[in-house]
Amino acid sequence: MVSELQIRVVPRIAYDMDNLRDYVCTELNVAANRLEDVVILKRSIDARQRIVMVNLKVVAYIDEKPESSPLGNPIDYKSVLDVSRKAIVVGMGPGGLFAALKLIEAGVKPIVIERGKDVESRSVDIAAISRTGKVDADSNYSFGEGGAGAYSDGKLYTRSKKRGSVERILNIFHQHGASSDILVDAHPHIGSDKLPRVIKNMRETILRCGGEVHFCKRVDKLLMDGNRVAGVGCSDGSTFSGPVILATGHSARDVYEMLKEQDVKIEAKGIAVGVRLEHPQELIDRIQYHSKEGRGEYLPAAEYSFVTQIDGRGVYSFCMCPGGVVVPAASGDNQLVVNGMSSSGRNSKWANSGMVVEVRPEDLKGYSPDDELRVMRFQQELESICFKQAGSSQRAGAQRMIDFVEGRASRDLPLSSYAPGIQPSRLDKWLPSFIGNRLRKGFKVFGHSANGFLTNDAIVIGVETRTSSPVRIPRDSVEMRHVVVEGLYPCGEGAGYAGGIVSAAIDGERCADALVSAYYEK
Ligand SMILES: Cc1cc2nc3c(=O)[nH]c(=O)nc-3n(C[C@H](O)[C@H](O)[C@H](O)COP(=O)(O)OP(=O)(O)OC[C@H]3O[C@@H](n4cnc5c(N)ncnc54)[C@H](O)[C@@H]3O)c2cc1C
Repeated sequence: MVSELQIRVVPRIAYDMDNLRDYVCTELNVAANRLEDVVILKRSIDARQRIVMVNLKVVAYIDEKPESSPLGNPIDYKSVLDVSRKAIVVGMGPGGLFAALKLIEAGVKPIVIERGKDVESRSVDIAAISRTGKVDADSNYSFGEGGAGAYSDGKLYTRSKKRGSVERILNIFHQHGASSDILVDAHPHIGSDKLPRVIKNMRETILRCGGEVHFCKRVDKLLMDGNRVAGVGCSDGSTFSGPVILATGHSARDVYEMLKEQDVKIEAKGIAVGVRLEHPQELIDRIQYHSKEGRGEYLPAAEYSFVTQIDGRGVYSFCMCPGGVVVPAASGDNQLVVNGMSSSGRNSKWANSGMVVEVRPEDLKGYSPDDELRVMRFQQELESICFKQAGSSQRAGAQRMIDFVEGRASRDLPLSSYAPGIQPSRLDKWLPSFIGNRLRKGFKVFGHSANGFLTNDAIVIGVETRTSSPVRIPRDSVEMRHVVVEGLYPCGEGAGYAGGIVSAAIDGERCADALVSAYYEK
């Protein structure tokens, strides 16, 4: 007999399989020796009340063993080695990777072109940023196999309402080595220690099926045939022909410059800008789990999410990393940018999140309204100011949270997870006032809603600018191709159509589907 149950239990039962088995036996009134297996299908923490509860959907196998795991549904990728149908995918972030896999499913050979190195070699360059302060412009937290997703936090939740599509993406991650927990948890998370292996496995699927992957090749021109893209040219002089999925992410500023130069229509787009806020994790655990003892033995490091409106603009937490670290996310010279990530165990002593203010193109003074790259130029300028404030290094400027709110210098700073190091800086003074003032007001609002959150034990670290794309590459909403240029499929976060790993992956699949139906199903 197989029974499905929805239960609401304390963490001691939810996170300990022996305790859970006992609980299920009591619920179903069966003897322990008849219960062959219990599998958790869904899990979510409810920390709204004083006593934290966990909602579970489980399946219990009584007097019979499961024939196969009820979790996961692997896709059978067939060979495209000998097919003549092909498409170019520029960029190997989640958008490009999932586009390539979808092309294979449709019987089309993907030719993937990536400016950076494979995910393992890339880790050496990423470590060097913290050690030497030097940033390789083709191999960093944004560029290289896996894109910004490879050394990201690996949170896989999204605001996308397309449940089927989200489940499909999680399933493909699981098929390539991510834990089955991502199929179960309401807030699935892979972790930056596990992501590179999953990405490597995806590359191996592409290669095994006969797709091509070209590393260390930077696309620097679209090859045009009238109004149609016929292929791409790379900085080393090589060329590739075919329709193009352009999934180069939001940090490829040279790609936006290239599109502008080649008269491909692009538009300025709003972003969000602010700081990374870092608290001791145990403080966040105490606040979110309403307990002086913190998270205790069973619960995971606590998360938070804040949002408010200040003077007509959204102020909100972004990419919260419980038990995580703040990382140097610059992708070139003369930039200081911070971001956050956490390993699968989420076991560092710190909690961090981006705390950002919505910035619209019309908020920017001193930039030509005719320049489609004006938001990007603002981003660049701010990152450069931040770099200079840090003495032209990656040692980020930081300020204690209440000092930032009250506009005074911090005499000293607590320990931080940020590996290149932090130094005291008057972020309250040098952040543009339309951002800094709103952040300060926002912090007061968040401090009122969560007692203890506004504290000088927390620090703000500058500056967080890479929240989304400063440019949109407009495309037809049904055909997914560029509104003017044929054969060009702007894809993922860099095109302005995704904001995170899962939404970029979904967008990659949609672009691949659209390309296949336009080129190969007529
Ligand atoms: C530190 C960090 C933590 C993050 N944490 C999370 C998280 O927990 N959850 C989440 O959902 N999102 C997170 N993100 C954001 C997430 O990684 C991105 O939203 C996602 O990777 C976007 O996917 P994409 O494929 O559109 O672009 P990208 O991942 O940016 O990939 C673009 C790719 O294109 C390549 N490329 C660029 N220019 C060229 C060129 N000219 N020629 C060839 N190749 C080129 C780049 O090298 C890169 O590999 C994080 C990002 C960072 C940096």
